Amino acid sequence: MAFSERIARLKSSLIREILAAAQRPEVMSFAGGLPAEPMLPKVEWAEMPASMGQYGMSEGEPALREAIATEARALGVPCEASQVLIVSGSQQTLDLASKLFIDPGTEVLLEAPTYLAALQAFQLFGADCIAVPQEADGPELAALRQRLEQHKPAFAYLIPTFQNPSGTRYSEAKRDAVAALLDEFGVTLIEDEPYRELVFDEGCATPIVSRLKKASWIYTGTVSKTLLPGLRVGFLIATPDLFPHLLRLKQSADLHTNRIGQWQALQWFGTEQYRQHLAELRDFYRIRRNSMQAALEEHFGELATWEIPQGGLFFWLTLKQPLDTRTLLKPALEQNVAFMPGEPFFIDPDQHPGHLRLNFSHVAPERLGEGLKRLASVIRQAHAA
Ligand code: PMP
Repeated sequence: MAFSERIARLKSSLIREILAAAQRPEVMSFAGGLPAEPMLPKVEWAEMPASMGQYGMSEGEPALREAIATEARALGVPCEASQVLIVSGSQQTLDLASKLFIDPGTEVLLEAPTYLAALQAFQLFGADCIAVPQEADGPELAALRQRLEQHKPAFAYLIPTFQNPSGTRYSEAKRDAVAALLDEFGVTLIEDEPYRELVFDEGCATPIVSRLKKASWIYTGTVSKTLLPGLRVGFLIATPDLFPHLLRLKQSADLHTNRIGQWQALQWFGTEQYRQHLAELRDFYRIRRNSMQAALEEHFGELATWEIPQGGLFFWLTLKQPLDTRTLLKPALEQNVAFMPGEPFFIDPDQHPGHLRLNFSHVAPERLGEGLKRLASVIRQAHAA
């Protein structure tokens, strides 16, 4: 059978395999970025207009585009509703952007570590990924400048607010510095912000796209982490030079995002009820973050170091005695514990052993301690072997 060249670049997704294994009810899963089931809002399907079952516009529902543009402007993102494209989850933004920018060998700049499924989307199209190391407050600026001087990336893909997997949030100063560098080198920014609303302290600095003066940009978000991931509704906002191309790519991919999901999202987006729901979500997840922090101190104090995330869904652990954490998966699953090894979040996985990503939103606090105790003992056994 003659498949396209790019099929050879499609590696099996470790996370899909782990999530499949984690479906068993007895497994305590720290693996995915799943919202907590008790916090999924109840949906009233009955009131939906019948017209939502008809074909719609590729751009998305006009009222939803308006609502998203209004929220984005409130964040400081300069945009009109005409720049908003409703997509099938922000994952689709990554696919459309890949199709727009990437030929085999096209350079793409990203964080190390970065979101695993973004890496897969870019690599599928043959991207040559260039990594910038992260510090606790954002990228190493000298490294970023050096990469920009030595390479010609088609775009920079950044997750500046509670990054997946590291939980890092860029400081004000680094947001400004990154924007200035991208402007100086004329590099397009793709800013991915699924976690902005899941913030546990005083709030988040404005997006980097709002600080750009010259460079083109795509800003992308989703209702997956705040409402229902099963809706598959996300959005992108793009500068006018990029928008028409993305719209045509969207049309050729799936005509339009499902209208039923868009209608549901619209019932929430920008409403007082949504604000209330977000406040409850933050309180709920703050408590879960605190529970995991306490359990980690108890079971991982001698094994690993970590920063306490101020938002998002993940702890990112660095083992004091590094090992390939992929080798821990099988014994952990035998103990009914799932987690996400850190290696696949890097372009060069074998060069970055010794990290684990642990989701704190999904496992109930009363089971958390037992899960982490088992995981710690799996690590100790691997160290002893
Ligand atoms: N970007 C990042 C950084 C993510 O963590 C996720 C979800 N895990 C996505 C994009 C995709 O989200 P969705 O397609 O559900 O909107």
